Amino acid sequence: MTATLIAGIAELVTNDELLDGADQSERLGRLTNAAVVVQDGVIAWVGPAARAPEADERRDLGGRAVVPGFVDSHSHLVFAGDRSAEFAARMAGVRYDGGGIVNSVNATRAATDDELRSLVGSRVAEMRAQGTTTVEIKSGYGLTVEDEVRSLRIAGEFTTETTFLGAHAVPPEFVGRRSDYVELVIGEMLSACAPHARWIDVFCEPHSAHAFTEEEARVVLSAGRDAGLGLRVHGNQLGDGPGVRLAVEMGAASVDHCTFLSGADIDALAGAAGTTVATLLPAVEFSTRSPYPNARHLLDAGVSIALATDCNPGTSYSSSIPFAIALAVREMGLTPGEALRAATVGSAKSLQRNDIGVIRTGNPADMSVLEAPSYLHVSYRAGVPIASSLELVAEH
Ligand SMILES: [Zn+2]
Repeated sequence: MTATLIAGIAELVTNDELLDGADQSERLGRLTNAAVVVQDGVIAWVGPAARAPEADERRDLGGRAVVPGFVDSHSHLVFAGDRSAEFAARMAGVRYDGGGIVNSVNATRAATDDELRSLVGSRVAEMRAQGTTTVEIKSGYGLTVEDEVRSLRIAGEFTTETTFLGAHAVPPEFVGRRSDYVELVIGEMLSACAPHARWIDVFCEPHSAHAFTEEEARVVLSAGRDAGLGLRVHGNQLGDGPGVRLAVEMGAASVDHCTFLSGADIDALAGAAGTTVATLLPAVEFSTRSPYPNARHLLDAGVSIALATDCNPGTSYSSSIPFAIALAVREMGLTPGEALRAATVGSAKSLQRNDIGVIRTGNPADMSVLEAPSYLHVSYRAGVPIASSLELVAEH
């Protein structure tokens, strides 16, 4: 039982709306000149440094800011291969239609377990080095029973937030036999994958010939729910569509992308704000040169929002939550505080987690430290690597 006092915190953003003496503007639960005591990996005390209790060890952050660890609630880290040429082609004007997923499927199937494990490990390390402490990881580049199970098993070595995404694309060997593939996904593949997954997801996108229709998505989600999995949906990415409506109707925890939303979609999301989070992925709009959704409008309408990277080889090969935060501020109308909340407590809500995203007594010591005196610097110093996860290995 070693207690460590973390002192020298110029500014502490807790997201704790009940924290005594904290500045609650933008619901950030903000303290200046703060300290945190961590005991056995759990937060034991939070408050002003001047009132900090004694501890066995002391660590001084020298005037840095501390924020809740970033929660990246949408990523596709289990893949092999390189698709940088597709990015270059898009920047030269080629439109994204979901077709390149097959390139990653071929490379992923050809990779060994050790190769995949090492690729996922280096991507997770890259995320931690940028302040992310929790990551959700989807399968979806295997698309055979064996390769989907293997993707989830490897993802599960790095996170408990694993998502079965057999319905990512119709694989090449099933072209012209879509219904046979959906049968496989909800039958043998789901049975084999469910023990390794917490969530099920589907790419519901009538604008892509490679993705799934509303009816197909409904069948996949229903089967996943029957197998005990929580629901997530890729929706409304390439144009107006049924994804948001379906996610709300089925009580999904999250509907992700939300690039193209009708007034009715926004009303539906606002009405479901206690259940369904709209997860915005601005690095995708950046990397596909698409219009950004209006996050300001969503917040004003009462929608629960989250921010994530969608780190994947096709449409967003960025592992950086600070980049997503900067884009949300610059392009989507959020304040730096709103964007920070969306990428922490907002993403935690989309994973139905209340033990992360908020720095409060009793929660795990899940924090990130900034090479800066204030959280404002995350978006102010875009592109500069100032955030990293706070590693609590004792310094002697
Ligand atoms: Zn995705």
